Amino acid sequence: MSSLWVLRTRLPAAMQRRFSLDVSAPLLRTQGYIDGRWVSAASVFPVLDPATGEEIARVSDCGPTEAKQAVDAAYRAFHSWKLRSAKDRSVVLRKWFDLMTLHKEDLARLITFECGKPLQESRREIAYAASFLEWFSEEARRVYGDVVPSPTRDRKILLLKQPTGVASIITPWNFPSAMITRKVGAALAAGCTVVVKPAEDTPLSALALAELAEQAGVPAGVFNVVPSSREKTPSVGQVLCTDPLVAKISFTGSTATGKVLLKMAADTVKKASMELGGHAPFIVFDSADVEMAVSGAINSKFRNSGQTCVCSNRFLVQSKIHDVFVEKLSRAMDAELVLGHGSEPSTTQGPLINNRAAEKVNHKLLKM
Ligand code: ADP
Repeated sequence: MSSLWVLRTRLPAAMQRRFSLDVSAPLLRTQGYIDGRWVSAASVFPVLDPATGEEIARVSDCGPTEAKQAVDAAYRAFHSWKLRSAKDRSVVLRKWFDLMTLHKEDLARLITFECGKPLQESRREIAYAASFLEWFSEEARRVYGDVVPSPTRDRKILLLKQPTGVASIITPWNFPSAMITRKVGAALAAGCTVVVKPAEDTPLSALALAELAEQAGVPAGVFNVVPSSREKTPSVGQVLCTDPLVAKISFTGSTATGKVLLKMAADTVKKASMELGGHAPFIVFDSADVEMAVSGAINSKFRNSGQTCVCSNRFLVQSKIHDVFVEKLSRAMDAELVLGHGSEPSTTQGPLINNRAAEKVNHKLLKM
């Protein structure tokens, strides 16, 4: 493929200018959120705009102490949250959805500045993220049980659905908002409480969600956020995956990290939901409509600069159609893909998330 420029992490110097985050103050939170309070840690870590490398915020670097405080708070809150009526929980989630919708532009800018994706993709992510809160606000009212036919006349079998308890939620940077609401919406609707550890590159979206959760009336301790740097993350993960007060872990990220978390969670036999790495070949047969194949390839390969879990990561093209497909795809890439800062309306391709990601891609290319 031509156009290797899409693999850069940063904008080329000639394209750099100053970009301002410009988000309303209450949504730009930089402390951890534990038991309904904004909490500082002993140190901070920088959040960088991946397009320019500039620091956009310094965030409290929570460690095992803060993680344990969050777990304890979530455990205390569980006892009252699970007893709230289904309607109560539904109303709070709906309010949270309404507030996300009201602040969608600011929330989208946060995603673009900490994760790099173009603003139109960030806006779509916020609509998608908010939709989980809307959906689960409705489902919260419908946690029905079952009456199961009994093998004997003197027995009745009733199936009740009950909340699991405290859930540890560990999320990736490529959907910094949606991967949180998708897990948290379901947990809160069921009556569980949560501790969220967002990815170190993208803590600001998680903290903005905490601000809106508080405004929506989510009670103290029900939704906690412990941001942490790459260095502190393993010690936070240790608490979140081993503390006996945690009943469930839910993780989206790499297979390697998922295995580490599962091993840690095994000793206390926690429930686990793991959404791990995929492998997505894009297959083009000789009989394909080339224009459709090219348009599908562009959509699939370049969303969030190739950094979504369903982006194709290799192309298998049948020999007769190979040359024409490659030529048309190259032309489409040159014509349609515009590299730039995500906040500029013309941009379709933002940066990769960080230097490690660029080095990984370059390393693979050199081996080809
Ligand atoms: P990537 O390599 O794409 O960053 P990861 O699977 O490492 O993917 O990261 C996904 C999430 O898992 C992030 O929030 C990251 O901080 C977190 N994470 C990575 N290692 C650990 C760990 N040992 N304990 C807890 N969380 C972890």
